[in-house]
Order: sequence, then C-alpha cells, then structure tokens
Amino acid sequence: MTQDVTMSLTFVVEPNAHPLSAAQRADLLVDPGFGRVFTDHMAIVRYSTDKGWHDARITARSPVTLEPAASVLHYAQEIFEGLKAYRRPQGAALFRPDANARRFRASARRLAMPELPEELFLESVRALVKADIDWIPQDEDGALYLRPFMFASEVFLGVKPASEYLYIVMASSVGRYFKGGPRAVSLWVTREYTRAAPGGTGAAKCGGNYAASLAAQADAISRGCDQVVFLDAAERRWIEELGGMNIFFVFDDGSIATPPLDGTILPGVTRDSILTLARDAGIAAREERYSIEQWQADAASGRLTEAFACGTAAVVTPIGRVQGEGIDFTINGERVGPTTQRIREALVAIQRGTAPDPHDWVEELA
Ligand SMILES: *Cc1c(COP(=O)(O)O)cnc(C)c1O
Repeated sequence: MTQDVTMSLTFVVEPNAHPLSAAQRADLLVDPGFGRVFTDHMAIVRYSTDKGWHDARITARSPVTLEPAASVLHYAQEIFEGLKAYRRPQGAALFRPDANARRFRASARRLAMPELPEELFLESVRALVKADIDWIPQDEDGALYLRPFMFASEVFLGVKPASEYLYIVMASSVGRYFKGGPRAVSLWVTREYTRAAPGGTGAAKCGGNYAASLAAQADAISRGCDQVVFLDAAERRWIEELGGMNIFFVFDDGSIATPPLDGTILPGVTRDSILTLARDAGIAAREERYSIEQWQADAASGRLTEAFACGTAAVVTPIGRVQGEGIDFTINGERVGPTTQRIREALVAIQRGTAPDPHDWVEELA
C-alpha cells in the first residue's frame, strides 16, 4: 500500500519566483570552485511513519527550519550521496545514478532510517537537473554536483530511530576540484586515528564518518600533507582509504589493485567503474589487502609505479608522496603516471559522452 503511493509520487514544481539573472549566474560560473555555488532550486520529500513518503516538490532553495530538539542534531541520523550531471549538446547526462540510489538505501538501512525507493531518488535528481540545467558550467571541467541527503527531523530526545525525516537534493555548480588540474597529492598515514571499525558505519555514506575523520585530516594538513590515509582499525596495517576517496595501486607488471570491500570501506561508484574499465582494457585488477609496509617497500624497489585516489568529486587524483611516522616516500617523481592518466581519461570520456558507453552507465536527460 505505502509502496504504491510512493511509486506514484510525482514532483510538484514550484519555480523559484526570484531566480538569479543570467548575468549573475554567468558571473558565479566563471570560477565556481567546489561546493560554493548553489542553484536556484532544491528537491524535497518528507517522510513520516504515518504517511510514508509524501509532499515531493521542486522548490526554491531556501533555509530549512529545525526545532532545537530535532533528533539529527543530537544523534546524527544523517546520510548523503554525491553524483554529477554533465552538459550535453541537448540537455544533460547523469553518470550511474542507479548506483547512488542503491547505495543511499544501503546507507539508510545501516543508520536505521527509512529506505527511499530508488525510483523516487532518481526522479528527484532528474527533476532538479531539469529545473537548474542552466547552472551546468559550459567549460569541459564543469559539472553540476548533486547532493542528495536525508536526516531525522523528529522533535524528540529519546534515543531511537526517528519517525520523521527530510530528504533534500541540492545542486552545486563545480569547476575543477583541485585548482590547477590533477596535481599529485601528498598523503599523511595516520597511526593515531582510524576511520571505520568492523561492524561500524564505514560502508555507509553518513556525515558521522566525516565528522570523525576531520581531526585526522586537520593533523595531515598541519604536517604539510594534502590528505589523510587511514589504516584498518583492527591491525593498523592495511590501507583502507582517504577521508572521502578510495585508493588504487599500480604495479610494474601493469596490474592494479584496490583494498577489498570488507564493510569498513565506502563502496565508491568511481572505484567500481575503474575496476570494470581496467578489466575491459585487459588490465589485471585485483581487490586485495595491501599493507603500509608493503607499499613503502614496493615504492622503494620499483614494483609499485603509481598510486591514485578516486571519487566522484575529483574523479582520479595521482598520489605523489606518502608520509607518516617512520614513513616518507615519493611515487613516480610526484608526477601523473601513464596508467593513472589512461584510466582517468577513459572514465572522463564516458562521463562526458566522447566515448562509447558499453555498460549503459550514462542516463541522458532530454
Ligand atoms: C563518497 C565516498 C567515496 C567515493 O565514492 P564515489 O561513489 O566514487 O564518489 C570514497 N570514500 C568515502 C569515505 C566516501 O564518502
């Protein structure tokens, strides 16, 4: 019953009565950076245990009011997604939005939140892109970054899964993630902090994981590194991932490897796409544990030739230097290596529509 009502939900479109002018928008799109420029609209859907999913709208982006006792502010039931819409000659295209819809449900399950039906997730994203299509930058590095998220809005201080939630999608015009192009980044290997423990929330895309990673990231910055890289919580040996990106290693026999999804690593859509594209190209791509000791030894011996981080926001980012207590090595002279470059180009070409899409990853929006 609830399911039927949900599936027939359509988004009521209430156009923003005071959108920015074309000139104001053009100004903002000259150098939007990442996560600073927001569009005229947002998608919003409410959930309550009584009514299920209801009140689906595309409306003017505006502040949300919350009671101080809204349970997300106390117990952090919050999850999110990140995906991009790219400009096409006619309209726009989404990259693997179905994978984000599935992961959003998985994250909701882990945080004891209601699972947004995948079709509703997809409709919210499509409808918002259509409303704000003029906000996709023209230049080739530009995209509309979509940020679906959901949080507990019930006014109650008892500790239990909330009975009311807000689901919202915002859109943000973005340029290059790292200014100056894909420069190699430096990593700090933290021995002090871990990101995720077995049985914890490491595989869920939730704000809480990020809150817990910020002290480690700040520590990395204070030591002159760009990003933190986490080791596993149980043995403090096995490389897991960065604060918000998965990691790949490239070897001298042409193969690549990434840590396996064992519940403590976020299952990245970019990670999965790279594994698939590599195998398509005849590159041996393994999912296997890799220790920090081995990484340092392989970098020294030349067995490891490149390393890169990956995620929707920055796509593929070369790793040039790794530092930590008793650790300091560089990779490929801190330059972008050929395999990293080739994988990045193969992925971007599908996303941008300049290469065939054999896996049906791209959804065109007319
Ligand atoms: C979102 C995220 C990633 C990358 O996932 P993509 O789907 O490729 O964007 C990696 N690690 C963490 C912790 C993340 O939150």
